[in-house]
Formats: sequence, structure tokens, C-alpha cells
Amino acid sequence: MISKNIIDLKKKIGTSVNIIAVSKNKPKSSILECFHSGQIDFGENRVQELCEKANSLPDEINWHMIGKLQRNKVKYIVSFIHLIHSVDSVKLLNEIDKQSKKINRIINVLIQVHIAKEKTKSGFSYDEAEILLSKKNNLKNINIIGLMGMSTFTSDKKIISDEFKKLNEFYFKWKSKHNFSILSMGMSNDYMLAIENGSNLIRIGSLIFGSRI
Ligand SMILES: *Cc1c(COP(=O)(O)O)cnc(C)c1O
Repeated sequence: MISKNIIDLKKKIGTSVNIIAVSKNKPKSSILECFHSGQIDFGENRVQELCEKANSLPDEINWHMIGKLQRNKVKYIVSFIHLIHSVDSVKLLNEIDKQSKKINRIINVLIQVHIAKEKTKSGFSYDEAEILLSKKNNLKNINIIGLMGMSTFTSDKKIISDEFKKLNEFYFKWKSKHNFSILSMGMSNDYMLAIENGSNLIRIGSLIFGSRI
């Protein structure tokens, strides 16, 4: 079932958009099944679960941190993480730089922008992101390679579309200055709207693995 889901999804979105299989709360056996159908990018939102899975699953997997990341946990993931999508403060950015320096790695990150109406979702406001991106990135062990956003949880497609469209415009405003290559937008329920509005990386959980409930 999992491999069929992923093949169907790839057929639907074409080759210009990449998929992260969001495997949070899902067993290693499901990840392996997905991996064996050719998927190598997986996303997790909790550090402990991420570390346990990364430790015992194939080294070829690219692990993406997509959830709220506490500064005191950065040290556990810097050695192996492929991309951190959820950088939501300058303090966190500094901590990632500090920890990656210690192990002589340069870490790719995305700046998460708060595009939704819910206050519970995290991320830089547009104003804060503007301030950060207008400066030169002086952190030697950090590569800011793009932006991430999560839309409002609503059935109103116009609201979701407008949020993605605005983030896409902001992405292009800063793309050349920072050499951006990744705009991470879209989940199971809104990935088509995200792609229509410029996303090139979608984060898909339930559509691949089934519902988490
Ligand atoms: C859980 C999660 C996803 C995937 O959600 P689905 O609706 O299951 O596709 C994507 N992005 C983030 C940040 C998540 O926490």
C-alpha cells in the first residue's frame, strides 16, 4: 500500500517537485517499505524519535527535521541531519551554527515563515524574516537554502492559496541574494495548492502512510 501511494503521488506531481515522506509516529517497518520503493527523504518532528530511527535505519536515508526544534536538542541531530526546515528564531540559527562548527559540518537550513492565522504555529514573521535575510549570512557553518511555511488549517482554498502565493513572492524576493533552491510548502491536504503556488518540496505524511490516528 505504501509503495503504491508513493508511486501514485509521484505520478501526480511530476518530477519538478520533491517529496519528503513524513514518518512521524510511524514504525520503522513502514519507513523501510517506503525506502525500498525508492524514497530516500524522510521527515520527523521530534528529536528523540528522529535519532532512534536514524540510528537503526539505512545510512542512505536523508533525514529532515520539520518540527519545532528546541535549542538544547540541536546537538543530538547536527551530526546526521540533511536539512532543518523549522528554523524559527535567530537564537536557534546561532545554536545550529555553534554545534555544527564543533563537528566541522555545514548544515543546510530553511527559514520557517509564519504564514498561517493560528498563533500556535511557529516561524519568523515576514518582518523578522526580512530583517534576517537583508543581512549577509555570517554564520560559517550554516547554509540558508530556502524557506518553509505551513498554511492555516481551513477548508477555504482561497485562504491557503493566498498564504502560499505570498510566501512564494517573498521567496523570489530573496532567492538570488541567498542562492535559494528550496521552497518547502504543502502537506497531504494542501499540496496541490502549494505546487500551484511555487512549492518545490512537499511534506507528505498521511497520504503515504495512512492516517496517524
Ligand atoms: C505532520 C507534518 C506534515 C505532514 O502532515 P500530513 O498532513 O500527514 O501530510 C508536514 N509538515 C509538518 C511540519 C508536519 O508536522
